[in-house]
Amino acid sequence: MKFSAWGRYPVIEANPVHFQNIDTLAHSIQDRQNLIPYGNGRSYGDSALATQYAPQRSRDRMMAFDESSGRLTCEAGVLLSEIIATFLPRGWFLKITPGTKLITIGGAIASDVHGKNHHVEGCFSECVEEMRVLQPNGEILVCAKGDELFHATCGGMGLTGVILDARISLKKVTSKNINQTTIKTKNLRETFEAFEEYSHMPYSVAWIDCLATGNNIGKCLLMVGDFADDMHLDYKEKKRLTIPCNFPSFALNNLSVKAFNWLYYKKAPAGVSHQKVDIDTFFYPLDAINNWNRIYGKNGFTQYQFILPKEVSFQGLNEILGTIAQSGKGSFLAVLKLYGKANQNYLSFPMEGYSLALDFKIEKGLFNLLDHLDQIVLRYGGRIYLAKDVRVSKETFEQGYPHIEEFRTFRKKMGLDTKFNSLQSKRLSL
Ligand SMILES: Cc1cc2nc3c(=O)[nH]c(=O)nc-3n(C[C@H](O)[C@H](O)[C@H](O)COP(=O)(O)OP(=O)(O)OC[C@H]3O[C@@H](n4cnc5c(N)ncnc54)[C@H](O)[C@@H]3O)c2cc1C
Repeated sequence: MKFSAWGRYPVIEANPVHFQNIDTLAHSIQDRQNLIPYGNGRSYGDSALATQYAPQRSRDRMMAFDESSGRLTCEAGVLLSEIIATFLPRGWFLKITPGTKLITIGGAIASDVHGKNHHVEGCFSECVEEMRVLQPNGEILVCAKGDELFHATCGGMGLTGVILDARISLKKVTSKNINQTTIKTKNLRETFEAFEEYSHMPYSVAWIDCLATGNNIGKCLLMVGDFADDMHLDYKEKKRLTIPCNFPSFALNNLSVKAFNWLYYKKAPAGVSHQKVDIDTFFYPLDAINNWNRIYGKNGFTQYQFILPKEVSFQGLNEILGTIAQSGKGSFLAVLKLYGKANQNYLSFPMEGYSLALDFKIEKGLFNLLDHLDQIVLRYGGRIYLAKDVRVSKETFEQGYPHIEEFRTFRKKMGLDTKFNSLQSKRLSL
């Protein structure tokens, strides 16, 4: 069966390994080598791709909720959207959420995802109090912060066993709405000044015009916000639009991206403006369109996401944005975020600094450009995000992740290195 993740590149032949319960899942693992757990396929690259994958969406029960503390115990196949639909009307929301709610709890832990509030709340692992992980020998291990299994599994890309369920803490909120402030900047210097000025705000994210050149490099719309206190908790998901088929691959080109960027930037009011928007508009704008990944055409696309240490972020981003603009390989989705301190997990992506994520359609010359960008990222002491990656080299990856040898040693010690593997783990010898 043809199989790919969100970037629709690469497409491989693969077989799902179905199971009825934990016992049959354990047996399937014992009988096989090189299997990978699969959540909802929202990772962009090849971290969830292998010729044998174990789909986890069917494990979707919520088992317990403590209304006084906001602690939820649920199976790893539950989607963030299901948690929001159930608990937002009761005044609870996720402490950490990425830019899509269509991912599973298992996927959120395995990538140790981050949101627009990393500078305040950290990664998803911060809200995980305990989890159960199925091991190659069929044993179910319980782990929490401080245990090596926990720190290897959070950010461990499905390579430390199957996450079965977790107890996570939710946060109390007073609305389904966000009071948003939008700041329009003219260049990267203004963008950085605005991020720092508003760094006390719990949520922030900037859309960057990555094709701007000269004095306008780094111009952006920075959106910051916090939950409103209007007690409007009557949350219902809106109907989604659908992209019915692949766009022709010529549709996205330098000109169309330039035109989109020009319009998007122009329609925002100058200076500082204020809006009240709902959580879906603020956190999950792309979820409004089913199959939006088809606009990149039948060859698929990839997201290039890197992070740079704070003290060199301005200089590094200036160089990288200049290189991208010069290449003419534009991306209309270019998102800049501010990050707080790194955590202790072996392979978690964030470090204190700024991260940029850009979508590129797969086309001739793209990987040469990305290899070139990798060298700039490494020169500034940065790293690439595994949840988005499909092509980074082992050498580049290793230079960015100082705890990789501890991760590899742990995998060997637990007998995980031959059992759980993805295309990505093979490429990077994880
Ligand atoms: C529109 C969009 C916006 C995004 N925004 C962000 C963002 O802001 N921040 C961010 O950090 N990420 C972001 N992502 C990436 C996404 O959050 C991660 O890739 C996430 O891991 C996907 O989860 P999934 O359930 O779809 O898992 P999959 O894509 O199916 O798998 C991802 C990884 O999780 C592992 N895995 C899944 N389930 C289990 C399990 N039960 N046990 C063990 N391992 C498991 C897989 O083996 C694989 O390595 C975004 C993705 C999209 C499409």
